[in-house]
Amino acid sequence: MSIVEIRENVKSGGRVSAQDALWLWKNAGDGELRELAQIVRARFHQPGACTYMLMRIINYTNVCVAQCDYCAFYTLPGAANGYVLSQEQVFAKIDELMAMGGDLVGFNGGFNPQLALDYYCDLFHAVRERYGDSIEFYALTVAEFMYLADHAKLEYSATARRLKEAGVRWVTGGGSEILTENFRQRHSKFKYTVVQYFQAQRAIVEAGLNTSATMVIGFDETIEERIEHMERTRHFQDEVGGLGSFLCWTFKPYFTPLGDRLGGIEISTGEYLRHLALSRIYLDNVPRIRTSVLTQNERALEGLLYGADDFDLPMEDEVTQKAGATISLQFDRILGFARGLGYQPVYRSVARRRAAPLPVM
Ligand code: SF4
Repeated sequence: MSIVEIRENVKSGGRVSAQDALWLWKNAGDGELRELAQIVRARFHQPGACTYMLMRIINYTNVCVAQCDYCAFYTLPGAANGYVLSQEQVFAKIDELMAMGGDLVGFNGGFNPQLALDYYCDLFHAVRERYGDSIEFYALTVAEFMYLADHAKLEYSATARRLKEAGVRWVTGGGSEILTENFRQRHSKFKYTVVQYFQAQRAIVEAGLNTSATMVIGFDETIEERIEHMERTRHFQDEVGGLGSFLCWTFKPYFTPLGDRLGGIEISTGEYLRHLALSRIYLDNVPRIRTSVLTQNERALEGLLYGADDFDLPMEDEVTQKAGATISLQFDRILGFARGLGYQPVYRSVARRRAAPLPVM
């Protein structure tokens, strides 16, 4: 195996194997990874083109029974600091986002045993009724979706149908972290198995809902585990389809049990960028590769050079912020970094009808 052989294979439209990916990670220089990532990126996007969204995650409850050791956000049922947002509080957050020009909301909370399926259906129905097509939202992560289905004693397919009837169009692939059974046992054994994760995501796709692929790196996972995660994702896309995008971000270790054990050290941006390039090269069947401003701030824009084509400008995500992420609302400054690298960021509205034109940023 050599970089020449792999480059020729990728240039001719070939697919890299898990062994190729491992070899690239260990042997390829940053420039070589960037070059290969740009070859695959060019199959989907014009050079210099990129898109972004202005969004906020609404963390509707922090009560959770999953007890993942990488989480600084949750509190157990009965704790004094537990909360569940009211519909009015949710609306206020959406109104604030819209006033800033955004039109995408993500709902993400804990596995709260006090919330039944009706809570979610009522909430999503109310959001759709109030805002119609002027915003879009993803309702839950696949992980929460699974908990919800189990809690309601419903099949995944029936749960997906109920959410769809309530106005949901999208369940994000979040909550995947690293999709190997060993990782899940080490850090998150009350959450789900990898087999269950993909069963749930298949049900979501088959119900006609949109979904996406996600990944988080920087725990104690091995490079082999990262590649296994990508292999499972690519295989799902080959078999089932429906993954419109792939977003990888980095573990923020602060105030988490796992972070304490690992010495509170984040992986470098350089390592994140190399992984982004490897993702673009490996996930040759996912059109949109997204870079994480939430965890890498303006340096995330360098991800465009490593094969990414899209990013969020986030207003809020309590889960990541509690673990050390910092959010800047100086959106124009962040976009300036993309322009400085030779890219022309264009707003990507996922709402079917925008309520108002975007403010100048
Ligand atoms: S990461 Fe999510 S599922 Fe895990 S403990 Fe935190 S809120 Fe719960």
